[in-house]
Amino acid sequence: MNRGPRDPDIETMLLGPVVPSRDCGDCTACCTHLTVNSPDFAKPAGIPCSHLTEGGCGIHAVRPHICRTWFCVWRRRADLPDAARPDRSGLLVSLNFVDRPQNRLEAVSINIRMLPGSDAIRSGMAAAILDRLCTALVPVWFSDGEEKMLMHPAADVARHVLSDTPPPASLAPEVAAWRERYAVFDTDRTEAR
Ligand code: SF4
Ligand code: SF4
Repeated sequence: MNRGPRDPDIETMLLGPVVPSRDCGDCTACCTHLTVNSPDFAKPAGIPCSHLTEGGCGIHAVRPHICRTWFCVWRRRADLPDAARPDRSGLLVSLNFVDRPQNRLEAVSINIRMLPGSDAIRSGMAAAILDRLCTALVPVWFSDGEEKMLMHPAADVARHVLSDTPPPASLAPEVAAWRERYAVFDTDRTEAR
């Protein structure tokens, strides 16, 4: 699920507040590429919203609550360049929630989704965005439409976080920090609830 009713404080806590000087402009990427699943409005991913027109949202003044309150990561992270706006970069970055996660690094994470036709890998934009986002205790996944890859934490750290095997001393502080923060999403505990 990508756009749905969530406590907005989770997004503010993990990503920061919406940047006041940024607006969506001509971008409508989330209106097409994301799932919307809220009590008063829903649509599947990959299909333009039925309210989307050439000029943008056709019901802008009365658009659903979720559309008024949800913002992609570009709208919240001032350190992402203007060129990273999803319609310019071909990368739609969002905070992603998985209701039944396979592992503790999947439940709440940043998802970088490469949009059809994007040249963000060749242009270096994907690397620039990853550099800025792979710095905090928030997992970062990258999906190119076929595969979803964990980009942060690094593979050796993730292996220990997910397996609970004792890490080497050089990785111990980082592994401990991830385990402490995300143990609540441990699969066994999630399934036991
Ligand atoms: S993807 Fe981001 S910038 Fe584009 S319309 Fe949605 S919230 Fe606005
Ligand atoms: S209702 Fe408007 S803002 Fe919401 S997804 Fe549809 S086109 Fe976008």
